[in-house]
Amino acid sequence: MTVPADRLSAFAARERAAFHAARPRTRKALADGADRFLGGVPMHWMKDWPTPFPLVVARAKGARITDIDGHRLDDFCLGDTGSMFGHSPAPVARAIRKQARRGLTYMLPTKDALEAGRLLTDRFGDFRWQIATTATDANRFALRVARAVTGRPKVLVFNGCYHGTVDEAMVTLKDGRTVARPGLVGQVADLGLTAVAVEFNDIPAVEAALATGEVAAILTEPVMTNCAMVLPDAGFHDALRKLSRQHGALLILDETHTISSGLGGYGRVHGLSPDILVVGKCVAGGMPAAVWGLAPDLAARFAAHDAARPQGHSGMGTTLSANPMQFACLRATLAEVMTPENYATMKAGARRLAAGLSASIARVGAPWHVVRVGARVEYICAPGPLRNGTEAVLAHRPELEAALHLGLLNRGCLIAPFHNMMLVSPATGTRRIDRLTRAFDDILSQLFQG
Ligand code: PMP
Repeated sequence: MTVPADRLSAFAARERAAFHAARPRTRKALADGADRFLGGVPMHWMKDWPTPFPLVVARAKGARITDIDGHRLDDFCLGDTGSMFGHSPAPVARAIRKQARRGLTYMLPTKDALEAGRLLTDRFGDFRWQIATTATDANRFALRVARAVTGRPKVLVFNGCYHGTVDEAMVTLKDGRTVARPGLVGQVADLGLTAVAVEFNDIPAVEAALATGEVAAILTEPVMTNCAMVLPDAGFHDALRKLSRQHGALLILDETHTISSGLGGYGRVHGLSPDILVVGKCVAGGMPAAVWGLAPDLAARFAAHDAARPQGHSGMGTTLSANPMQFACLRATLAEVMTPENYATMKAGARRLAAGLSASIARVGAPWHVVRVGARVEYICAPGPLRNGTEAVLAHRPELEAALHLGLLNRGCLIAPFHNMMLVSPATGTRRIDRLTRAFDDILSQLFQG
């Protein structure tokens, strides 16, 4: 059962007109200032929201975001995970106020840093930590360590993955070959020299790639969250761990999104044992920060390599990373925000949301499905489950998804752009969840039943 094209385009036109009419102040503000920015926005992703023009935000708190036209939206996007624990959690806001009087950056540790280190180990397990500012950087540095320690050139990634704007991971499978993604700006290097892509859940392909002896590390999310949502088959992670050890490659888990799974991320919840763990986005409650950690045996191998390395820049680190504001926010988040109680609330809410969306899908008989990873929920406008990146690309319905996104926004619910993702924060609450479910149900009625 599909949505008739004329009904979809009429719905999308109505929603675009409603969005436009409801935002005179936003339109005026953009007309008065946006052209100073390249492409009219401070960061070009802001043009990728499926709205006629971007929202201009006045403030956000907890699970609510308010635009300058006074629209109070229930925020299920939450900065695409940066604010997964809600906007400005009170302990983080307090930590920022306190640190603001004591200096913002000085390239030296504080007592908060030492406490954050202890808390990181307590929450995520026994790793030797480094602080970066973005998950992109954390992944880049992790890959350097992997290549340095193994002496091998390539990272194995899964087709359809996203690990930040890390060159090596910006590849795709084309006719069985690993090539640069077509949309990359200014890409001149042959990324097939430093990466090999295979399909998620394809263990024989992983084994064949590892058997070349060229792979320094497998870099993977525990669940693919950046091309719809693709769950691992039973036994997939055990096989990755076993094969990587057998072939002398490292295993890097990027938990930047799957931190939604529960305390310590998917790996801790499911008993996985990576060599390197990466977590970014919400790890410091919304303050730009990321962490990467090496398992103790790998840390020892790296120390030996580091001692023998010639003088000169390591190619890792950035000037403003590991600053005192990050330490203060990391400490506050790990100690007071990333708690079992908050995770329990978030996961219960996400279960309720997933059940509500699934019920609407079933009611109208849409051939769609819903996937949940802890506090993270996604509806996919195609049958499922999806097993790999290629299937996920084929499941994508850009026009339909854009219309749904806008329809939800006009009904007071903001979900993620790029894909149909929703996060439930500790501040979200059942009223907001039920409002989103009702809005989704109303839109599905209009699309499927006219
Ligand atoms: N890893 C994963 C799994 C991500 O989804 C993202 C961003 N969506 C990143 C890394 C990069 O995060 P950032 O943009 O904060 O560097």
